[in-house]
Amino acid sequence: MATTYRTRFAPSPTGKMHVGHARTALVTWLQARRRGGQIVMRIEDIDRPRVVPGAADEICRDHEWLGLDWDEGPLFQSSQNEAYEQALSRLEAAGRVYPCTCSRKEIAQIASAPHGDEGPRYPGTCRNGVTKPGQPSALRFVFDDPSPGFEDALCGAYPEGQVGGDFVLRRADGIWAYQLAVVVDDAADRITQVIRGADLLSSTPRQIALYQALGYPVPGFAHVGLVVDADGTRLSKRHGATAIESLREAGRSAEEVIGLLAHSLGLTSTHAPIRADELVRSFELTAISRSSFTWNPKG
Ligand code: GLU
Repeated sequence: MATTYRTRFAPSPTGKMHVGHARTALVTWLQARRRGGQIVMRIEDIDRPRVVPGAADEICRDHEWLGLDWDEGPLFQSSQNEAYEQALSRLEAAGRVYPCTCSRKEIAQIASAPHGDEGPRYPGTCRNGVTKPGQPSALRFVFDDPSPGFEDALCGAYPEGQVGGDFVLRRADGIWAYQLAVVVDDAADRITQVIRGADLLSSTPRQIALYQALGYPVPGFAHVGLVVDADGTRLSKRHGATAIESLREAGRSAEEVIGLLAHSLGLTSTHAPIRADELVRSFELTAISRSSFTWNPKG
């Protein structure tokens, strides 16, 4: 029996949905609809202190307004504690987990190599026992070198050995880390292809190592170029004017927003207003523009 194509929207309810999220969501939606597949709406509300009350509802409403609907959910990571516990126990039983009491500051000081967006590579200080017994400890995954490589449907070959350092599965304050939660959920939700922003490309080898350690089938991955501002900075919650809600309140229609995004992805020859469902028939994931898109508020 052929496997049903399944993908997901995985917003973090830490602020408003902006055009960067909408652009990736449009690609996800078009690919699922083109493939006759299913989309799960999963609210990634695991980092409780960063969750903004009401944001999950607003994000769902923005999706509906744009015509980017889903088939299952919304599911909430905050109700999956037991599944994360079980996965952790299995990793512990396999000898892949150890406690760590190093602070961020200590790691930055020890790790001498220059580091980019991801922060410093953890040098494994607590692998043979915590340096500060009795202190609250995070739990780290033993992430062996070389890190796995993979073939991204949009970014191409991602070589093995590109990232490294044992990473956190559960923080010292008890909060589950994104890497563990997303893998457990994508496996439980039977996701066959993960489509998300290119900022998460370098997280993928870590997630593949977790899939392998847990014995889950590894899904396909497609990382979509980001939306940046005129200075080349990735859009974030700071860019208030790019929130879907702000565009709607400024009188833009959903078709205008979809028209701009579709054009930026190379799906249409002009940015004329269009509905998402009008783009399904001719959609080809591998034909979309791979580059980042500079959002011009006047565009
Ligand atoms: N929750 C993440 C975000 O909103 C996405 C995680 C993922 O797609 O794996 O950026």
